[in-house]
Amino acid sequence: MTTPRIAIAGAGFAGLAAARQLARLARTEADIHLFDRHAFTTMIPALPDVAGGRLDPNRIRADIAALTKPEIHVHIETVQKIDLEQKELTTAGSTFAFDFLILATGAAADTRGLRQPPLDAAHTLATLDDANRIRQDFTAFVLARSAPTAVVVGGGYTGLELACNLKSLAARHGKTARVIVVEMKDAILAGLPEKIRSYLEAQARRQGIDLATGVRVTEFDGANVALSNGNRLEDVFFCWSTGTRRALPELHGEHREIPDGRILVDEFLRLPQHPQTFVAGDAAAILVKDVPLRKAVNFAYYSGLAAGRNVLKSLRGQPLRPFRPVDLGWVIPFGQTAAGQALGIDFLKGRLPLAMHYAMCGYRNFNLGHQLYFAGVAVRALTGRL
Ligand SMILES: Cc1cc2nc3c(=O)[nH]c(=O)nc-3n(C[C@H](O)[C@H](O)[C@H](O)COP(=O)(O)OP(=O)(O)OC[C@H]3O[C@@H](n4cnc5c(N)ncnc54)[C@H](O)[C@@H]3O)c2cc1C
Repeated sequence: MTTPRIAIAGAGFAGLAAARQLARLARTEADIHLFDRHAFTTMIPALPDVAGGRLDPNRIRADIAALTKPEIHVHIETVQKIDLEQKELTTAGSTFAFDFLILATGAAADTRGLRQPPLDAAHTLATLDDANRIRQDFTAFVLARSAPTAVVVGGGYTGLELACNLKSLAARHGKTARVIVVEMKDAILAGLPEKIRSYLEAQARRQGIDLATGVRVTEFDGANVALSNGNRLEDVFFCWSTGTRRALPELHGEHREIPDGRILVDEFLRLPQHPQTFVAGDAAAILVKDVPLRKAVNFAYYSGLAAGRNVLKSLRGQPLRPFRPVDLGWVIPFGQTAAGQALGIDFLKGRLPLAMHYAMCGYRNFNLGHQLYFAGVAVRALTGRL
């Protein structure tokens, strides 16, 4: 009998947790292959701070090979296509046949609404490369102008965190940048509890961020922006942050998706149509009381562990265990403050949740050096020295 092959696509929080769970099978019960387009994994929640030059980019990344057991075969290759019927995964260099699959490729920036070229003049924020590019390009942009203007399209938490970081990056270079968040809905951060939403909106205004709500971008020519309210902004640094879509575009074989491309799974994180395929993290639409779970590090981590455990049980012919997520709350960091719901409190605000955010970035980080770095950041956040 040949040894079963398990493919894990994506080495983020979910994929690495799955690999850790399955490591004990390696070589004896199964061959485990982990694919990622990068040789490193990233602490994504810290990207806005890296874009703003507040955190060291080297403290939010770690080599995948150093984080996995030597028995796991690590492939630094982009997965281009997965065929669920044929049980094949295709990269630029090869086609790989698997018996079990854990799909954990996360989410990518949704640029579908960005119709006007040139696309590369618009900055998105989903990867470490994006964050480094924003920091470098915005620094050069600010230094070359006396009154720089940045436009961030999208008033969700990523757009807001980015806007706040651009403002402070410019200030560190001795410049006052005009930073405008353009949001087509009538309010920023729509969908959050109103108390938290209005607190963060007031903080945005206090930090000097302009909020253009109920407004769309009608044109971007690479330098100038036209808005649906008739305003035109010349010579802007342009960022696009209107949500996410599934990172892996090509998925063949029967499956169901929700509008942002996440794949619907059953309570075992399995595709009902393909019982040897599991999906975890941001790639999965995990329904809790008919509502998809929000995208978050802890859900990604625990769903990765659960998917790994269920593959192991499938291999051994044991009954699968349902994934029951535990919600520890959430926090939106915003400069020197933050707001959210955690510790059983429905409106936390100020430095404590800010410190909690950086403590989480440390706790879920990849090695002791990075964890200590973030512990220091959390203490600075708590004492107002960030
Ligand atoms: C700006 C920002 C701020 C956030 N802040 C928070 C926060 O404060 N708290 C929180 O809990 N959550 C936050 N999130 C959400 C959180 O980062 C995600 O929920 C989490 O990273 C999902 O983990 P994952 O393993 O599913 O995906 P990821 O961590 O995105 O990992 C996916 C992996 O798959 C790889 N990959 C993608 N496509 C391919 C391909 N085609 N081939 C090979 N490899 C591929 C990627 O390189 C990556 O390593 C934030 C997200 C963003 C974008």
